[in-house]
Amino acid sequence: MDCIPVLLVRSDRRGNEDEGGVTVSCFEHGSNQSQPLGHKNVESAIPELMQPRQPIPTPRNRKNGRRVKESKSEATGIYLPNNNILTPNMRSPDYVQMSTAAAITLGIMKGNMYGCSCTRCLNLLLTYPEGCRANCAYCGLARHREADRDYADRNFIRVDWPAVPLEQIVDIVADDVPASPFHRMCISMITHPNSDRDTVTVLKRWTKRIDPTEIPISILSNPTTMSRQDVRVLRDYGADIFTVAIDAATPDIFERTRGKGVQSPHCWKKYWEILLDARDIFGPQKFGAHIIVGMGENERDVLELVQRIVDLGGHTHLFCFFPEQGSLMDHLPATPRTQWRRVQLARYLIDYCDVRMSHMKFDSAGRLVDYGVPETEIDRIIDTGTPFRTSGCPGKFADDISACDRPYGDSPPSNIASYPFAPRTIDLKKIRHQLHRLKDGQNYTEGEDLEHLEK
Ligand code: SF4
Repeated sequence: MDCIPVLLVRSDRRGNEDEGGVTVSCFEHGSNQSQPLGHKNVESAIPELMQPRQPIPTPRNRKNGRRVKESKSEATGIYLPNNNILTPNMRSPDYVQMSTAAAITLGIMKGNMYGCSCTRCLNLLLTYPEGCRANCAYCGLARHREADRDYADRNFIRVDWPAVPLEQIVDIVADDVPASPFHRMCISMITHPNSDRDTVTVLKRWTKRIDPTEIPISILSNPTTMSRQDVRVLRDYGADIFTVAIDAATPDIFERTRGKGVQSPHCWKKYWEILLDARDIFGPQKFGAHIIVGMGENERDVLELVQRIVDLGGHTHLFCFFPEQGSLMDHLPATPRTQWRRVQLARYLIDYCDVRMSHMKFDSAGRLVDYGVPETEIDRIIDTGTPFRTSGCPGKFADDISACDRPYGDSPPSNIASYPFAPRTIDLKKIRHQLHRLKDGQNYTEGEDLEHLEK
C-alpha cells in the first residue's frame, strides 16, 4: 500500500502542472465520508464496527477493463491519473505505475512532500486495463471499483499512481546508479493472470541495466496466483527480499476483508504456504509480512502474528488502517492513535530488541498494558523515534530503518501514523502524548504540531 504525499497533494487528485506540479496541502485526502463512523475518545478500534460495506453493482461495459480495451486508445509516455477521462490502454511489463512520491523523486512529476525531500523506495506496481481481480475491502485498487473508475485512475494507499513506461524508468535510474536517491526497488504484484510472468520480465529488464547489489530489489507478492517455483525464480533472477501482504491479523478478518466475505479469491492458508516457501528459499531476514492494524483485531492478535513471523526468521511491516477513498471500508474510522502507537512500539521491541510477546502483559480485551521491559529502557527507545517510522524493507541507513517510507500512505500529514522521516522533538512529544507517556513537566496541546506543519 502507498500514498499522498503528499504530499501534500491537491484535493482534486491531480497535480496542476501549470502551477508547477503537485502543491500539496491535503490534510484530509482520502476521507470522502462526510460523517464517518468513529471510535470517538476510545483507546482501541471497536471490532464490531469494522465491517466492509457492500459494493455497488458494476455495469457490464465497465467490467474487466472493457471500455478501456475497446477504446483502443494507446498510451504515449507518462499518464497522470485523472478520473473522468478514459485511461489509455496500458499493460505491464511495458508499463508500470509508481507512487506519487516515487514519481516526484524520479523527477517525472513536480511536487513537495512534507518533512522529506524524496522517498527511498521506488515502488513499481503492475498495471493492466483489467486491474486487480481481487476485491480486498480496504484497498483502493479493488475490483469493485470498476464501477467507478478505470484501473490506472484508482488511488492506492491515499495517493495517485502515475503510469510510466518501464524503459523510461530504467533509463533514468541506470544513467547514474551511485547517485540514485533510491535505496531499494520493489515490484508490487496484483491479482491478475499475467502477474507472475510479468513480474519476472520487469525484474529481468531492470537487472539487465542495474546491478541488484547496488539497488536491492523486493517483491510484494501475490500468493493467490503463485507456486513455490515462482518464488524460486524470483530469487534466482536477483530479488533480495520477498514479502507477503497478509494484511489481516486473523483468519476471520482475512476471510471477511479479502476472501469470501467480499467475493475475493484470497485464502489465509495459501498466503501462509507462500510465506513459508519464501522463508525456505530467501532465508532468514529476507522475507517479511505486511499487517494492517485496526481492522477489528486486538493488540494481542497482531503481536502474536508479529512474534510468529519473527520466530520464523522474518520481519513485519505495519500499516495503520486508514479509510481509503472508494474502498469498501471508506466509511470506517482510522485506527485510534493510542492503539497504533502501542502496537508500533511493541512490534519494534519484538522485531529488533529480542523482547518476546510472552514478556508482555495484556488486559482482558487484548490491550497491551505492559511491554515487559524496564521503564527507563522503554523511554530510551521511544526517544530514538525509530519505532514510529514507516516499517518495511531496509535501505542503506540501518537495518531497522525502512527504505520503503511510503510518505503519508496511512495518514494525512496533520496526524501522522507512520513517520516517513525521523520524528523531531515536537513529533516525539505528540507520540508520548498518544502513548500517555509524557515526561514530568511536559505538556502537549492538541494541534501544536500543526503550527509546526504550516511553517
Ligand atoms: S490483492 Fe487485494 S490488496 Fe492487493 S492490490 Fe488487489 S485488491 Fe488491493
